[in-house]
Amino acid sequence: MKKVISLLTIGLFLSVASCSKEDDPLDNPVAVNPNTNKQQTGSSSNDLLSDKKFKSMVIEVVYVAGFEPSSTAINNFVNFLTARTYKPNGISVIKRSIPSPGVSPYTNEEIVSIEDANRTKYNTSDQIAVWAFFTDGKSSKDTDTSVILGTAYRNTSFVIYEQTIHSLSDSPFEPNRSLLETTVITHEFGHILGLTNLGTALQSNHEDAEHPKHCIEKTCLMYWSSETGGGISNMVSGGAAPQLDAQCIADLRANGGK
Ligand SMILES: [Zn+2]
Ligand SMILES: [Zn+2]
Repeated sequence: MKKVISLLTIGLFLSVASCSKEDDPLDNPVAVNPNTNKQQTGSSSNDLLSDKKFKSMVIEVVYVAGFEPSSTAINNFVNFLTARTYKPNGISVIKRSIPSPGVSPYTNEEIVSIEDANRTKYNTSDQIAVWAFFTDGKSSKDTDTSVILGTAYRNTSFVIYEQTIHSLSDSPFEPNRSLLETTVITHEFGHILGLTNLGTALQSNHEDAEHPKHCIEKTCLMYWSSETGGGISNMVSGGAAPQLDAQCIADLRANGGK
C-alpha cells in the first residue's frame, strides 16, 4: 500500500513540470525508464549544473522542417547555460530537421515517441545530453483560452511548440519571435534545472503556492501568470527576455550551479 501511494506522488510531481501560456496542465504522464535520459524532470539538475560527473553538455536540437528556432534564441540559450552551469569542456549544439511527423496536434505520448525515434545523443561517461524538439503543430491540450508553448517532460528533454510561437510573434503588437523563443526555452530549461522546488531545493520560501514549481517573483523567468490573458506576452513586452531572480539563482548555486 505504501508503494502505491509513493508512485502516485511521483505522478503528481511530474505533472507540474509542464508549462503553458496561461496554465500548467495537470496530466503529463511519462513512463520512468531505466535509461538515464528517461527520468523525471528535475532529477538531473545537479548533473546539469555541476561538473562533478559531466564535464561537457551536448544539446540535440531537432525541428520539423520550416520550424527551426532562431539562431539568436539558441545563442541566448547557450549563454544562459554558460552563465549558470559548470561545464569546463564546453556546451555544444547539434541541429537538424526532420520531416513533419504529421500528427499535430501533439499529445504528450506522441512527443515522447518522436524523441524515442529520433534522439541520437545520450549521456556518456563525462558528457550529459539534452534533447530539444521544435514542433510544426500545437499541443493537444490547447484550448480556446489557453495555449501551451513548451513542456519540460523528462530529466533532459523538452518540447517547444514552435508553430504556436509563430502564431503569437512577429506581427504588429506581438513580441519579437526570438525573444519569445528565448523566454520559453530558458523557462522550460529552468524546470530541467530543478526550478522551482522541482529537484533543486529551495534556499528561501519563493515557490508560488498557487502555481506549484514556479517562482513567486513576478519579474523572474520562473514566474507563471495564469490569471491574465496576456500571459507570456506581457512578460516579454519590455523587449528583453525575463531573467532568473536572485532567489532562483541562489537555489541553483546551492545545487552545484554558478
Ligand atoms: Zn513553467
Ligand atoms: Zn525566481
